[in-house]
Amino acid sequence: MLKIKRKSLLYKSGVEYADYCINHVEGCSHGCKFPCYAMNMKKRCGVIKDYKDWIKPKIVENALVDEYLPIKINSLSTMLHFDSLPNSLLKKLIGLLSSSDSKLIDSCARVFKKFIINDNQLFEILSYKNNYMNMNKHSIRRLLIIYFKSIFDLENFRKLIINSNWDNVHKEMVLKELYTFEQILLKNL
Ligand code: SF4
Repeated sequence: MLKIKRKSLLYKSGVEYADYCINHVEGCSHGCKFPCYAMNMKKRCGVIKDYKDWIKPKIVENALVDEYLPIKINSLSTMLHFDSLPNSLLKKLIGLLSSSDSKLIDSCARVFKKFIINDNQLFEILSYKNNYMNMNKHSIRRLLIIYFKSIFDLENFRKLIINSNWDNVHKEMVLKELYTFEQILLKNL
């Protein structure tokens, strides 16, 4: 997945039915063959080179930290159509998991499940470039809910954390949340 940064997501619109528009993606994987107005405009402005460039959409990474919630949710839905997740976006996703909004959490969960398929991969990704340091107890709880459905599934992940070279503060925080989550699963047996 490619990404770009923009000064603003809000644009003054030239169309008669809207004063402003919001755009969190550049390009479109639909790649319609009939003349696409949006593609032609981007070509004319020199933002993209050609059709091949257009059909590889780039996500505007600052959309994920925009205060307007629907933009974040829409960006997350768009990310489901990409085939990889850059680490800078992953860090932002971990941050979004601390939200109290259930729709946003559900959208994040779908992106996590698409790009990180199991607990081993989750551990690798959290360890990469110390991504785990972006977690707080809320995001840890959300990740546990996304990836673990039974107490048996937790054991491998617990071992990975214990044997990791993560700093002690985060290690203890994850292990504590893991224990609490385990107790909840046990009660629901
Ligand atoms: S933006 Fe262009 S390529 Fe994408 S769906 Fe619309 S017309 Fe088709």
